[in-house]
Amino acid sequence: MIDTHAHPLLCNRPIEEWVQNAHVAGLSHIVCVATTIQMGLDSLALSTRYPHLLPTIGIHPCEAKNPERLDELEALIGRNRFYAIGEIGLDFYRDNASLEQQLYVFESQLKIAQKVGLPVIIHSRNADAEMAPVLNRYPDVKKGVHCFSSSVDYALHIASENTYYSFTGMVTYPNKAEILSVIDALPLEKMMIETDCPYLTPVAYKGQENQPAFVGEVAKMIAGVKGIAIEEVVKKTSEVAQFFFGIDV
Ligand SMILES: [Zn+2]
Repeated sequence: MIDTHAHPLLCNRPIEEWVQNAHVAGLSHIVCVATTIQMGLDSLALSTRYPHLLPTIGIHPCEAKNPERLDELEALIGRNRFYAIGEIGLDFYRDNASLEQQLYVFESQLKIAQKVGLPVIIHSRNADAEMAPVLNRYPDVKKGVHCFSSSVDYALHIASENTYYSFTGMVTYPNKAEILSVIDALPLEKMMIETDCPYLTPVAYKGQENQPAFVGEVAKMIAGVKGIAIEEVVKKTSEVAQFFFGIDV
């Protein structure tokens, strides 16, 4: 089982405990997603101690107003093993930067991904209308839309050979029928599971800080919606994540 989106550097739990709990829960890898260049470098350092923590690097849309070291990003990727560029995208919920600023930082990183052949992790909040045309401009870049929570129509609108959808513990919350209908509509071959920890704790662990060990709750929900065994969801989503991120097993 693979948690494809975690933020160890934002979590309060001691990293040893966090890693141990994930191991006990049966996780083989955890993708440690950066929101800044510095966080990517810190995740890289963490991965030297814990090789199954896989670092990514990228500038989140909420950092797009004063993007740190955007010009260095390609060189850093060339020198180090990062598994994706991300999380990158558009966010008009927090709205820390203008549309132009966000588009510039987002597309600059998509162009690097295209050049170096890395997948991207997409963050999209209140931005579906602006996001879709950008995604469609980079058909050859593998794109994982993180914390997918839009409609079936939108999921199908952005569907392509290189589009993947990742689901969080949000799928366990009440009144999420729309996300469940997306899970029902999409093939398992396009799905990944994630925690987005420390955020979005699944209902079963309400009151606790989220951690990778809880990602099985997302698999359980997908299994319920699709009427298949949880083992099948775990196996297939792990294969999808291995292919998407280029994880050696
Ligand atoms: Zn995140």
